[in-house]
Amino acid sequence: MNEPIVGIDLGTTNSEIAVVRDGQPQVFSINGEPILPSVVGLSPDGKLLVGQAARNQYVLAPERTIKSIKRKMGQDVTVDLGGREYRPQEISAMILRTLRDRAAQALARPVRKAVITVPAYFNDAQRQATREAGELAGLEVVRILNEPTAAALAYDLGRSKRRHVLVYDLGGGTFDVSIVLCERGVVEVLASHGDTRLGGDDFDELLLNAVCDRFAERHGIDLRADRVARARLLRSVEAAKRRLSDHPFATVEEEFIAEKNGQPLHVTEEFSRDEFEAMIQPWIDRTMVCVQKALVDAEIVGRMIDEVVLVGGATRTPRIGQLLTERLGRPAHREINPDLIVALGAALQGAIIAGEEVGAVLVDVTPHSLGVKVRDQMSMLEGLDTPFRFVPIIERNTPLPASRSEVFLTIVDRQKVVEVDVYQGEDEDVRRNHRVGRFLVEGLAPVPAGNPIVVQLDLNLDGMLRVSAREKATGLQKQITIQNALATFENTELEAARERLDDLWESSFGDGYAFDESNEAAEQEALPPAHERSTAAGLAATISGGGSDDHIGARETVQAHALLEKAERALERVLADDRADFERMMARVRTALADRQWTVLSAASNELADALFYLEDR
Ligand code: AMP
Repeated sequence: MNEPIVGIDLGTTNSEIAVVRDGQPQVFSINGEPILPSVVGLSPDGKLLVGQAARNQYVLAPERTIKSIKRKMGQDVTVDLGGREYRPQEISAMILRTLRDRAAQALARPVRKAVITVPAYFNDAQRQATREAGELAGLEVVRILNEPTAAALAYDLGRSKRRHVLVYDLGGGTFDVSIVLCERGVVEVLASHGDTRLGGDDFDELLLNAVCDRFAERHGIDLRADRVARARLLRSVEAAKRRLSDHPFATVEEEFIAEKNGQPLHVTEEFSRDEFEAMIQPWIDRTMVCVQKALVDAEIVGRMIDEVVLVGGATRTPRIGQLLTERLGRPAHREINPDLIVALGAALQGAIIAGEEVGAVLVDVTPHSLGVKVRDQMSMLEGLDTPFRFVPIIERNTPLPASRSEVFLTIVDRQKVVEVDVYQGEDEDVRRNHRVGRFLVEGLAPVPAGNPIVVQLDLNLDGMLRVSAREKATGLQKQITIQNALATFENTELEAARERLDDLWESSFGDGYAFDESNEAAEQEALPPAHERSTAAGLAATISGGGSDDHIGARETVQAHALLEKAERALERVLADDRADFERMMARVRTALADRQWTVLSAASNELADALFYLEDR
């Protein structure tokens, strides 16, 4: 290996250092963490603290702690640390030196050269200050690289065909969006916009205020006034915010946070992702205004963007990716860890300068989405000819291991059972995906429709999937483990084909479908008792949507759909004279399905199945 050139992301909130080893960029861990908080402080006994230790003391000793120094880079100012004045580049140098030493330790050799990244909007003075900081830390800064360029390099976009890439970077305290043009190894920033006062920390403040307002209402105490209570809560709400990225609910819990009349008071506040996303919506809207401005400056329109890349920890909030997908018509890349992507790209740039062979960043991702089948009346309205929709929980290209949960609601009053039916695939129409497993959760509380059931999927690196479903109100839970949940469609084609055939078989024979008595007995056993069956089946599909007159099971509905599919394919074989009649029969089945007229559906399906039967005979 030539002398290593490391890549450093010197961030406002956090910094990272990476290097290419054996062609692969890797981030170094610092005290077991890949991220070093960009915080510098002095301990009470005058020792220098850099990173987590400095961050920990910030709330209690702000006069001895400096954070967000990046905001001051390039300014002719000094900051006070323990009674001494320092220039911003000196503080940044302390962070860089900590990173450099850790890398040297891990590589067991000196580290002297680095590529350091800066925001695309940094001016000359800011870039120069960054260079000086590197030099003060004992590093030769071989290149100052734009952060969005580093992100594009990490996705190997620079080396492929001409592409417009939108890099959306939302960190703890700043937001940047850049439009870059990648072409044959050259990455050019066409336009860049941002807001240096907007980031994930603002979202923490919103949650903190919500918790404090609720607490003040209940107990008449404003926790914001107490510095220690505020600091504890801030940590707690940040953890809750992170949890909400992967789970539908999160609880902020802090014991003994205050006292009233000699009695200790605790905080326990639950937030749903919906509530949180509604809170942060105005902030996200502001970022979208910047996106629009950047597009205008780059003189392109949204649909000319070929790739969208997410950078910065705060982009893990799912609403952000969803909004960008809605606006730009393509899913955002989130395969590479958004906290590390800039450092990885900088390391790649370093290796290229050092003349090394480099490969793409390797990430283990799920090649298919995994999710559940749900019943949803909107499906019909939106053109799906089935009331069942596939709702992904772990989306395709999510890095592994992945753990996500979503909440679903029961659809009928006093619903006792839900069937969790797990599928793999990308089609909204669940029938086109592949079933990987299913199970029932029985004995739900006899409450009105809308009972929340949290379905959690945990997928490990070996493709083993654990699915659990929990009734939120009671904690009643059931789970299964599915080995090899990521088996490809090819591997499972046979099985899928068999399932399709089963469905067709059932549908072709309508109500009188050909199973003998012993089969029927087995069916009865597998399903809940008759009086519960309709509910169970309705729920099978579970979970959202309304309608309490579910007097028919999912099986019959699925049969009707399969029947219609078969009829569609048979249509061209119908004699011209019979065609109008045949189409009328199909329309009757469709209307009955749409109107949920189950008795009519049964008769109409029989009629159509008969016609098909004679058609096959012909
Ligand atoms: P960065 O400056 O890129 O390190 O981003 C830091 C910001 O990302 C902080 O506000 C974090 O709270 C936020 N963040 C980190 N992980 C998550 C997550 N899983 N969901 C939402 N925000 C996160």
